[in-house]
Amino acid sequence: MTTTTLIDNGILKQHLIDPEICIRCNTCEAICPVNAITHDDNNYVVRADVCNGCMACISPCPTGSIDNWRTMPLVRAYSIEEQLTWEELPPELSPDQWAADGVSASAADAAAVPSSVPEPMAEPGTQAFHSAKFGATVPPWSAAHPYTNLFPPKSPTTATVVGNFNCTEAGFESETHHVVLDFGSMPFPVLEGQSIGIVPPGTDALGKAHHARQYSIASPRNGERPGYNNLALTVKRVTTDHDGNAVRGIASNYVCDLKVGDEVQVVGPFGSSFLMPNHPRSHIVMICTGTGSAPMRAMTEWRRRLRSSGKFEGGKLMLFFGARTQQELPYFGPLQNLPKDFIDINLAFSRTAGQPKRYVQDLMRERAADLAALLRDGNSHFYVCGLKSMEEGVVMALRDIANEAGGDWETVGATLKREGRLHLETY
Ligand SMILES: Cc1cc2nc3c(=O)[nH]c(=O)nc-3n(C[C@H](O)[C@H](O)[C@H](O)COP(=O)(O)OP(=O)(O)OC[C@H]3O[C@@H](n4cnc5c(N)ncnc54)[C@H](O)[C@@H]3O)c2cc1C
Ligand code: SF4
Ligand code: SF4
Repeated sequence: MTTTTLIDNGILKQHLIDPEICIRCNTCEAICPVNAITHDDNNYVVRADVCNGCMACISPCPTGSIDNWRTMPLVRAYSIEEQLTWEELPPELSPDQWAADGVSASAADAAAVPSSVPEPMAEPGTQAFHSAKFGATVPPWSAAHPYTNLFPPKSPTTATVVGNFNCTEAGFESETHHVVLDFGSMPFPVLEGQSIGIVPPGTDALGKAHHARQYSIASPRNGERPGYNNLALTVKRVTTDHDGNAVRGIASNYVCDLKVGDEVQVVGPFGSSFLMPNHPRSHIVMICTGTGSAPMRAMTEWRRRLRSSGKFEGGKLMLFFGARTQQELPYFGPLQNLPKDFIDINLAFSRTAGQPKRYVQDLMRERAADLAALLRDGNSHFYVCGLKSMEEGVVMALRDIANEAGGDWETVGATLKREGRLHLETY
């Protein structure tokens, strides 16, 4: 489908995002095959001159905020700059506004909303890396069915803090908190791999309510404390922006400073594809950095509970976990206590004094023989979560491992995506 499909006789079906319910989760931007979506600290927006109406972003959007269209004279299309300032969507143009542009309302009505056309998968290395070409948008076949958006951005629910502690080594600059929230009698069913949104109290510099920030659930489906209606999060205190300048992240600092008994506003749950397989002998390869460990902890803990109750038949767990230093690695202590025959743990540190920098993809290449065997096995599922910058290196490592083992990445990668067996969630 080409751009012209959205334009007919100078009339554009303009694709827009509803800023009131968008949770700024980045899913659409990661998925769009033509980079039509961009964002700033305020809004996610669609470039009218790039969006071709392929619809790849529509069903993955957890809130439905992406599925908005306005019929516009092409010359009046809303610019990116305009959209970035919006607090709500503009209404459709009135007949008078159309008449002012010399178009009858019936001609405007005739412009069609586009339909879905799948994008082909490109050869990695032949063009700029785009995660949409590799990450699955469907769950594994044996995933449990998730509930999503039970509490949408405009209708949050309340949870009570029942635990909050630093799960990185104390006394260091970088701090990550393990926070447990209890929902009392309010239904809030979740699965490993899903996330929730936390709405920080107060308003921003413009007096606008803060939008929700997303956090992956770090506990299994039956709760951080089994039998209670609770879940855990792994939240890193943001003290610098992506360029290293000092900032005080609104939501992360709010969450890290919460006290037991405090109430928080929660939206969600979100996520319907980054879910774990549940069938016997299904393997899980987890590749993460920093707080990307949250969903990996949830999946590992669910399998650990199943194993200790004798209810799960095998299936390998392999973890590649990266951080700058051991002190910054969330849950370092508890990880060491997991039995070696239960999980194969590989840790990479990129800033250990006197040591060469090691990243998760370096460890993956060292374990190429094991990963090649897992890539050949249709029961293997791969999960990547954490820093945006890790994504390309990890996928390229999988590509090289598949090719060097005599496979063909184009086929292997396409199969993983189609079968919901390679999931990418980076932020
Ligand atoms: C799907 C998804 C899952 C997520 N899961 C988790 C999770 O499990 N744990 C977790 O801690 N975070 C997670 N995040 C990130 C989280 O949603 C927030 O973006 C993060 O906590 C920063 O929010 P803030 O309000 O503190 O910072 P803001 O006030 O929004 O931003 C302050 C400044 O810091 C920059 N910034 C934003 N995020 C980061 C960051 N992570 N590192 C460095 N600089 C940043 C911003 O660009 C801005 O300049 C997830 C994000 C997504 C999209
Ligand atoms: S419809 Fe397709 S091209 Fe347009 S923003 Fe969504 S994914 Fe991108
Ligand atoms: S909520 Fe929907 S529109 Fe907003 S960033 Fe996420 S996927 Fe995009």
